Amino acid sequence: MFLSLKSIELSGFKSFGKKSELVFTSPIASIVGPNGSGKSNVAEAFRFVLGEQSMKSMRSKKGEDLIWGGSPGLPRANRAGVKVVFDNSKRLLDVDFSEVVVERVVYRDGQNEYLLNGTVVRLKDVIRLLAGANIGGSGYQIISQGEADRILNASPKERREMVEDALGLKLYQHKKAESERKLEETAVNIDKTKSLRRELAPHLNFLRVQVEKIEKAREMKEELAIKLNEYLVREHAWISEEDARLLSEARSHESDVKDLTSRMHEARAKSKGGESSRITDLQLSLNDKEAKLGEARRESEKVSRELGRAEGALEVNTVTVEQIVAVPHVRQFAREVDTALSDAEKNEDIVAVRGVILHIRDRIKNFVEGLTGAAPVTNQEAKTLVNELTLSLDKKRKEEEVLASEISHLRKEIQLAREAGFAAERDVVELEGKIREAQSRLNAANANRSNVVALRQRFEEEIREGVALIGMAIRDWDKTPLPVNATAEDRREQEKRRREIERFKIKIEESGLGNGDEVVREFNQTKERDEFLTRELADLEKSAASLHDIIAELERTIDERFKEGLKHINVALKGFFQKLFNGGEASLKIEEPKRHVRDEDDGDMEDVVPEEEELYAGLTVSVHLPRKKVHGLEVLSGGERALTSIALIFSMSQVNPPPFLILDETDAALDEANSKRYADMIRELGEKSQLIVITHNRATMAAAGELYGVTMGQDGVSKLLSVKLEEATKVAK
Ligand code: ATP
Repeated sequence: MFLSLKSIELSGFKSFGKKSELVFTSPIASIVGPNGSGKSNVAEAFRFVLGEQSMKSMRSKKGEDLIWGGSPGLPRANRAGVKVVFDNSKRLLDVDFSEVVVERVVYRDGQNEYLLNGTVVRLKDVIRLLAGANIGGSGYQIISQGEADRILNASPKERREMVEDALGLKLYQHKKAESERKLEETAVNIDKTKSLRRELAPHLNFLRVQVEKIEKAREMKEELAIKLNEYLVREHAWISEEDARLLSEARSHESDVKDLTSRMHEARAKSKGGESSRITDLQLSLNDKEAKLGEARRESEKVSRELGRAEGALEVNTVTVEQIVAVPHVRQFAREVDTALSDAEKNEDIVAVRGVILHIRDRIKNFVEGLTGAAPVTNQEAKTLVNELTLSLDKKRKEEEVLASEISHLRKEIQLAREAGFAAERDVVELEGKIREAQSRLNAANANRSNVVALRQRFEEEIREGVALIGMAIRDWDKTPLPVNATAEDRREQEKRRREIERFKIKIEESGLGNGDEVVREFNQTKERDEFLTRELADLEKSAASLHDIIAELERTIDERFKEGLKHINVALKGFFQKLFNGGEASLKIEEPKRHVRDEDDGDMEDVVPEEEELYAGLTVSVHLPRKKVHGLEVLSGGERALTSIALIFSMSQVNPPPFLILDETDAALDEANSKRYADMIRELGEKSQLIVITHNRATMAAAGELYGVTMGQDGVSKLLSVKLEEATKVAK
């Protein structure tokens, strides 16, 4: 038969102060020896090397107790080491070695060291490796002395664990425990992640609001840039055109003013200079002519009077003066007065009129004086005189007429000259008015031009402000295409644009976030962190879900295998039990978790949360002894308990046989008949598992293929030696 357990070596372990080795060559090895020689220490050495953590189960309090304590013959050791060698050619253990050496060392300071083929490993690794081969765990495969009925004394839960262990479910339990631990860790991480996200949320929300504002401001800025560019290009076009228009307008007004002014100067010169001096000249010549006319008239009157007298003298040389005054003379006189008066009537010049009046008075005086004059000359003389005087009078009259006509011409000229002066003055006034108008138009144009200058300044200021607020997007405003007929538009439209732009600026300034790059960066970082946490959370939740699945799956597997295994154990148990007891029945039963029944009396309606242990479906042992009415574990005798335990242990190892089984005086309580039955069963068992049986029983020894004796000399050191059956019985005593 293939033996997986090749040897065990103890050095410094308990009573094995010197290095001792047990090499197994037979499926059933028996260790014999007197009380206190160190047999149980060998069983414990197995426990120790397989990773036992309970000091109590190795009859010690601390690690140091396991180390050879020294004797007068051999000083104490500093370490206790046990080494087991497995034949791994069939890959019992899941490592790629054909021989596996598991070693454990404990030092006096309590430090433990585990080695796998000489390499230091963790306890966990050893346990996992062994569990994979159905070795280790609750230790049902090492039945210590007096502990045979441990399975009977165990609680249903412990018992179940032992059975699970025997069924090789420990590995699944480990996996399940590990998954549960991971699940717990995951839950903690989920909580942590959630709380991190919760902590982050207000800050993230705050930043999100800020960023939304910034985005909005950015959008507004973009919109503003479009509006502002259009506004600027329009404004620039308008200003340029307006400036040019006003400039040409001003120039034209300026030339108007110049023109009118020169014309006005001309008119003024005319009204003041030229005309008035001519009038004076004309007046002087008029006065001259009038004086001459007066003279001429006086002379002609004189001639006329003389003529009158001469005519009178002619007509009536003898007549009195009164008679002399001829009718034609009187008529002549009357004609003269009449002419003078009619002249005066026409004359506007008061001085001239006065002259006429004076002249008429003279004429009247002369006429009256003539009446009293001398007597007329003779008629011939008179005739000659009359003719001469008539000629002279005619001449004088003609002279008078020429002068009168000249005077009238002069008067007309003066009149015309005066009128021309008046016209020039009127022109001056009119031109002055026009100049004022042109000047005021020029002033208006200039005022408008200065408005345009102000507009240009405002325009430049607007560009500066725009650049400060929006930046580069405004710098190229002049590249914006100018809409068609832009300058023909109603100016109020542009004003509307300007107001809208102002409103935008205010809004943007009110958002008060500057360009917000910092905030956006922080928001992005925080968001990334939050997204990372969200992903992490999703991953964690996913892994929690998959761990739940794994656990559920493991539980199902454990449950199924457990139930299935239990059936087989019960079949084997029945067989062993009936063999040992010659009948009767024993079985392991699943005990459903106890439910807390509501206590009706105290009226407490709340369910009591059951303890974890109580939730667990444990295992109870049901025993019916043959020919005995009473049943149950409590009523069994010591021997009966031992037999039941043996039946249980053996049946358990039948279903999923462990590679080896160590039984330390499990048969101690058996009588001779039962010892024989026990030995039979050992043989049966030995076909499936390697057995190491510590015994004082000859029947058991006889079942073993090899025997080892343990002795202890005066030095207190246990020694191992291979013995024959006959020797063994002696040694055992
Ligand atoms: P029995 O047949 O009575 O059950 P046994 O052969 O199983 O006896 P063990 O119990 O294995 O005997 O050995 C006990 C012996 O080991 C005792 O004599 C004890 O003094 C000795 N011993 C235990 N621990 C140490 C130690 N650390 N150093 C030295 N000796 C020790």
